[in-house]
Amino acid sequence: EPILSVKNVKKHFDVGGKKILKAVDGISFDIYPGETLGLVGESGCGKSTVGRTLIRLYNATSGEVSFKGKNVHQLKGKELKQLNRSMQMIFQDPYASLNPRMKVMDIIAEGIDIHGLNGKKREDRVIELLETVGLNKSHASRFPHEFSGGQRQRIGIARALAVEPDFIIADEPISALDVSVQAQVVNLMKKLQRERGLTYLFIAHDLSMVKYISDRVGVMYLGNLVELADSDEMYDNPLHPYTQALLSAVPIADPSLKNERERVILKGDVPSPIDPPSGCKFRTRCPQAMDICASTIPEWKEIKEKHFVACHLYN
Ligand code: SF4
Ligand code: MG
Repeated sequence: EPILSVKNVKKHFDVGGKKILKAVDGISFDIYPGETLGLVGESGCGKSTVGRTLIRLYNATSGEVSFKGKNVHQLKGKELKQLNRSMQMIFQDPYASLNPRMKVMDIIAEGIDIHGLNGKKREDRVIELLETVGLNKSHASRFPHEFSGGQRQRIGIARALAVEPDFIIADEPISALDVSVQAQVVNLMKKLQRERGLTYLFIAHDLSMVKYISDRVGVMYLGNLVELADSDEMYDNPLHPYTQALLSAVPIADPSLKNERERVILKGDVPSPIDPPSGCKFRTRCPQAMDICASTIPEWKEIKEKHFVACHLYN
């Protein structure tokens, strides 16, 4: 049973002048309890909008998001409060998401306050959370600007954990961090996942880090998922020409695979999501485009077990 089920979700924005920006244009996937689903794609492909729609920062234009069997956009009252605790988000820029005028103690306690803890109990709980993310008591009385980027992301994680969520959406949680710090934060997230049985949606553009943390990976292009598979399968046997191009740019760590992957350079830029190409949206840059690609939108299909792709090459 999936913990989260996304069915044909669209999120369109009216940008004036009768123009519609199709940020997310009909995507479907499931996430299972305890797994990490990585979501990758170039900036502007809609991956952050997916995260924000799932957590209800945006209403979906159409389609359905169910969390533990319930439609998240229809919940009210108690059930909505429960949902708001169960799903938490970690942001790319931890500094922008932490109130600069609040001490770390109060930033983290914000989540706890809805539990009704106060005084010593509240303080103990914050310290426990700080220790969980590799910080300590001495950090509680400081302000966000006194911390490094990596520490601020740890504070963001502690704040998310305060309400004991089951599901965390991490929107490029390490993109703003130094390379030396990135692995530390990812390892912390993996440890917390093991200890707490957390489920993650991990949004990123760095494919090598995504492979490291994810059980499965989805690739987005211009508002659509183009491919979804187990991480190993995706990296060993990418089917969609876009995935193949993205992966060809990732350095191969395993020397036995060297030279097996030819570098694919994509021509042109990503077209505007306001006026995307007809048929397959990737066709203007696809090295393998055919006539049918301009006229017909490729179907999202399970080509082999758990490996989905939308491309006319596989019909
Ligand atoms: Fe390329 Fe056509 Fe496949 Fe799109 S559907 S990725 S244009 S081959
Ligand atoms: Mg983004």
